[in-house]
Amino acid sequence: MATVVAKFGGTSVGGAERIRNVARRLIARKEAGDSVVAVVSAMGDVTDELVSLAKQVSSDPPDREMDMLLATGEQVSIALLAMAIHAMGHEAMSFTGPQVGIVTDPVHTKAKITEVRADRVREALSRGNIVIVAGFQGSTPDGQITTLGRGGSDTTAVAIAAGVGADVCEIYTDVDGVFSADPRIVESARKIDVISYEEMLEMAASGAGVLQLRSVEFARNHGVVIHCRSSFTEEPGTIVKEADETMEQAIISGVTHDTSEAKVTLRDVPDRPGVAARVFTGMADANVNVDMIIQNVSEQGTTDISFTVPQEDLVRAKKALDEVIAELGAREWSVDDSVAKVSLVGAGMRTHPGIAAQMFRTLADAGVNIHMISTSPIRISCVITADQVVTAVRSLHESFGLGADEVSAEVSPACGGGE
Ligand code: ASP
Ligand code: MG
Repeated sequence: MATVVAKFGGTSVGGAERIRNVARRLIARKEAGDSVVAVVSAMGDVTDELVSLAKQVSSDPPDREMDMLLATGEQVSIALLAMAIHAMGHEAMSFTGPQVGIVTDPVHTKAKITEVRADRVREALSRGNIVIVAGFQGSTPDGQITTLGRGGSDTTAVAIAAGVGADVCEIYTDVDGVFSADPRIVESARKIDVISYEEMLEMAASGAGVLQLRSVEFARNHGVVIHCRSSFTEEPGTIVKEADETMEQAIISGVTHDTSEAKVTLRDVPDRPGVAARVFTGMADANVNVDMIIQNVSEQGTTDISFTVPQEDLVRAKKALDEVIAELGAREWSVDDSVAKVSLVGAGMRTHPGIAAQMFRTLADAGVNIHMISTSPIRISCVITADQVVTAVRSLHESFGLGADEVSAEVSPACGGGE
């Protein structure tokens, strides 16, 4: 008998019939002898609608109240799912995040899980229930409701899976798994059967929206195997786990893109020790996630610093930047939100030279100008103009032979264009 945690995203519970469909799936698992925990998101676009309602009453809603509002979305779906299971003659019990002991830090709207007191779930399972948990929410030790950032139900699911020692955490979604590029943009995108935590972390961090980044971190830290799959078919999806020899050894696993960031530039910043520290302490204190950073060569004692931040953090970033500029005596700051980031991810980069050269050559041949570059040992990212993102993703996918009809493992550095 296995213990399974199954998470269903908003589309999968997007209406009464879909909720009944999820109920049937869970019951089938239960009848096959498994202990079943379901974690669900808010129905359809409910979270987006709540965000938009909040913006209609306030240009800068307090984060605490935002959490109060957003947490309601998931509560609707857990209750409906439990009712659907009851109506089919089976036992189910729904719980909010706080009720099942999802404890978080106090950072409203992007809280991190600090502890999972899973005994409530275990106890409800032992009484034969299908246990249904609201994703995306938790509470601080002193009882404030928090949410885990957009897509946070994935992290709830992985945390519960770790807490109850589940054999697998299945993430049911509206796509068939993790792809070599966004299939909405690249027709020949290939479903990846197995991927390492390390590569999945890079893919999630660079725009593959299919799994929340934090959920992959949590899974890696606690050794939870994730199976990301479609809720509309029985087909296997993508397994995310620790790398081992049996894994397909692709040099490049995928091309990702992200249009949710903006580029901030500070002009004429004094070039002396402590300046970068001041700028980025300001961003950190305002809870702004900084991604790529570039500092130009200094001329006459001043320099320009550019970095990217999530567009959703811009209001907070701007407030902090005003203070930073005034304090440092820099000339000005500006924001460009028509940028996109395109990234190439693959563990084979470590051992295969020439990948960066091929990437830049491919972008150049496609007429795409690169504004910023950053790398990790297994990822290369370029900031480009947003309206060229489709061209960039398609040309890179093609250039590295990642399509469904090609075998990416056969891409050798010898194919590196322009070298
Ligand atoms: N409902 C939340 C969102 O839309 C959490 C989730 O779906 O994972 O971001
Ligand atoms: Mg999601």
